[in-house]
Amino acid sequence: MENKLHDEFQERLCSLATMFIEELPDKITEIETLWSKLLSEWEPGMLQEIHRAVNNLAGSSKTFGFSELSIEARVLEQIFKNLLLQQVSADAFQANRISQQILELKKISEDNESNPIFIRQTIANKEAFLTIPQPSDLIFVVNADAEAAEELALQLRYYGYEVEVFNHLDKFRAAILQIPNAIVLMEIEFPDDEMAGIRVMEEIQRELTQPAQVIFISVHDGLDYRLGAVRAGGLAYFTKPFNPVELIGQLDLITASQIQDSFRILLVDDNPTILAYNAAVLERAGMTVKAVTGPAQLLETLNGFNPDLILMDLYMPGCNGIELAKVIRQMEGFIAIPIVYLSSENDFNTQREAMSLGGDDFLVKPVFSRQLISAVTLRVMRARSLRALMVHDGLTGLLNHTAIKEELVREVVRSDRLNTPLSYAMVDIDFIKKINDLHGHAAGDRVIKSLARLLKQRLRGTDTVGRYGGEEFAVIMNDTDATSAAKVIDEIRHVFSRLLHLSQDEEFSVSFSCGIADLEHFPDAAKLSEAAEKALFHAKQRGRNKVVVNSGD
Ligand code: GH3
Ligand code: MG
Ligand code: MG
Repeated sequence: MENKLHDEFQERLCSLATMFIEELPDKITEIETLWSKLLSEWEPGMLQEIHRAVNNLAGSSKTFGFSELSIEARVLEQIFKNLLLQQVSADAFQANRISQQILELKKISEDNESNPIFIRQTIANKEAFLTIPQPSDLIFVVNADAEAAEELALQLRYYGYEVEVFNHLDKFRAAILQIPNAIVLMEIEFPDDEMAGIRVMEEIQRELTQPAQVIFISVHDGLDYRLGAVRAGGLAYFTKPFNPVELIGQLDLITASQIQDSFRILLVDDNPTILAYNAAVLERAGMTVKAVTGPAQLLETLNGFNPDLILMDLYMPGCNGIELAKVIRQMEGFIAIPIVYLSSENDFNTQREAMSLGGDDFLVKPVFSRQLISAVTLRVMRARSLRALMVHDGLTGLLNHTAIKEELVREVVRSDRLNTPLSYAMVDIDFIKKINDLHGHAAGDRVIKSLARLLKQRLRGTDTVGRYGGEEFAVIMNDTDATSAAKVIDEIRHVFSRLLHLSQDEEFSVSFSCGIADLEHFPDAAKLSEAAEKALFHAKQRGRNKVVVNSGD
């Protein structure tokens, strides 16, 4: 399977390279034509156009392995760039130099071997074997202190994670290269090296196609430690001593993001060959890609496609990437979308300007596949986990009040469209005030958490659970009418009421009440929500530890 995919991918790249060679004579002719026009009448717009054409040629020829052509094109590009910056026309000496350089490009392009075997080899040499990681529940705990490592492993196993412990960095290195999708809990300090964890992780990240997912743990809280951790691809940083529950929360977030939808990437480049090439690379890594060739299509596509990240060329006809980024940032819902520039630009000042004006990252063409994939993956993961922090509740990791309400509106629209049933349940813990008074607020918190876990565990993956208030939960069950929903929740009610909770030396048990309504009887989100709350009120009135359905009569 993996080999077949790899072959198909190589096939796609080869046909793109062949296309590039076929189009090469036209491209050189275009540059020649532009240059003779420019010589007869010097015009800044024309200069911009020829600069872009040469810049394109430099980038694409390198992408497909024609390095001589790329080097010579780069020389020409630099001359045009200086003229653009100085806003002057070429003097006789420069003009002569440009003409010579264009001749040189023409000569190389005619010499180029265009037979398929040569192309195939070029591509095969350039591209590393790309593997796609599968979601993992496997955790690697790396710590020289064997006892501390085992203690942490024990906790993690208790929460259902599979854990392997490494006390030596070289053994860990061998293992992560074998299983790159494991989540790494890396201690920074090792006996002979204060920052060994960071250093080793940095090395490993460079060897992997997709960045390893790593959380750093340290007694130190200094900026140099935290900065080093981020640079080594750290997704989170915990200073000791930390609350294991927080660590679990973080792990749950990471594993949840692995089973999320594939990354959605919007590509913008005026060069169709480069565009197709990068799309092939990202699709090969399992991402969903939309490729557009210009600013107008970009804006059209943005809302419907709803990308996680935009990867855009810096030079395009009509407007440049920096201007386009400004426009995107002003559009509703896209203020925070990661924008990565992809360009053959290698001038430091332009890069800095691009970054300060709304770009998040800058990749210089040609970007190697693994570098492109890892830059994109890291950005999307960061953006998604930031979003997750905004919509998830800190104590339980469930959707928060605002997020679950928004989700209900979306699900109602979806069920209307598909004409499927939908149920909404409100769950409220019984007499939690008494629990808090008798056993302490912390014990109350643990009860809330245990119910959150139980709901998540027992409900289907397609159901949505949110923490609606302090000890109140909301559950959206699609494809389910109120009767079936009541059956499911009642089973959970039964299990929950029999759980034993512990505080100091005392055991106690707790129950919840629940109200349910469905879309068939209450046809919009507001009515549904109100009806479920009314049913919950009745459940409380009728003695608690009950599930009540509101059927509208
Ligand atoms: P009822 O059966 O009527 O629901 O009784 P109750 O004690 O649960 O009362 P109610 O739902 O009206 O009150 C909510 C209480 O829940 C108030 C507060 O003490 C407690 N609570 C709210 N949020 C939290 C929390 O995050 N942690 C803990 N431990 N308690 C909370
Ligand atoms: Mg309550
Ligand atoms: Mg309540």
